[in-house]
Amino acid sequence: MGKLSGKVALITGAGSGIGRATAVLFSREGARIVVSDVVPQGGHETVDMVKKAGGQAVFVESDVSRWADVQKMVAATLDTYGQLDILYNNAGIMGKYIMTADTPEEVWDRIIAINLKGVFLGSKCVIPVMLRQGGGVIINTASTAGMIGLPGLPAYCASKAAVIQLTKTMALEYADKNIRINCICPGGITTPMAAGYDADNPPPFKQSQAMRRFGQPEEVAKVALYLASDDSSFVTGTSAVVDGGWTAGIPKAKPKKE
Ligand code: NAD
Repeated sequence: MGKLSGKVALITGAGSGIGRATAVLFSREGARIVVSDVVPQGGHETVDMVKKAGGQAVFVESDVSRWADVQKMVAATLDTYGQLDILYNNAGIMGKYIMTADTPEEVWDRIIAINLKGVFLGSKCVIPVMLRQGGGVIINTASTAGMIGLPGLPAYCASKAAVIQLTKTMALEYADKNIRINCICPGGITTPMAAGYDADNPPPFKQSQAMRRFGQPEEVAKVALYLASDDSSFVTGTSAVVDGGWTAGIPKAKPKKE
């Protein structure tokens, strides 16, 4: 029996990267999956990957920053599977590197709308379902960018820091209702988003992450599985940091070549 047998998981931003890897892993552990994304092509590809591996998945197109879309995605989950046990609020965008004074207001608004308001709307819509069902699990993707500052990413860093606080607050609100709510703070992970890092001004991931490599989306998915499953039955309100040691401190100097 898989760790998520009998469960239904709705994953946003599941058409790519971390969301896709999580959809595949959750399915392998027995969950039926709703793949949600604003980009249909990637979403359908993830559904195909899950099905090829013998799992069950459907795609729902949805923009997490729009309340009507979020309601549609949750309604489609309940129509398809009749239940919703795990919500992974994972969709996010980073945007280009722009210093604070040069950041257009609409760029700020868009990043906050997707990364922060999207987590709020997803949770707002799903919590009543989980209350009716007698419990559930919510996981949010924050970031190490919510723990330390990164020059050129003011809206991104602010949105991710706020996701950590929103996670804690919601966890406290619903802890006595059998709803566990946690977030994950990935460091530099090899996904299409990471391909967008500005070559002239990259976050110093490889130098700063003590393990001196990027993480793989599957390494984040494994932590999401832990948080989604009963293995984390006494864990709520926490931030699981998956960053190769980046936020642990300043890494050792590289040994000099002789
Ligand atoms: P990705 O670009 O591969 O995947 C993000 C997905 O979100 C895409 O499929 C995209 O279409 C979707 N999306 C974007 N806007 C959306 C919207 N409005 N509604 C619904 N879906 C939308 O990137 P990823 O690295 O897999 O990112 C997943 C999450 O991880 C994001 O929240 C990101 O901020 C976070 N994160 C990534 C890294 C990293 O280094 N890759 C580090 C820390 C945190």
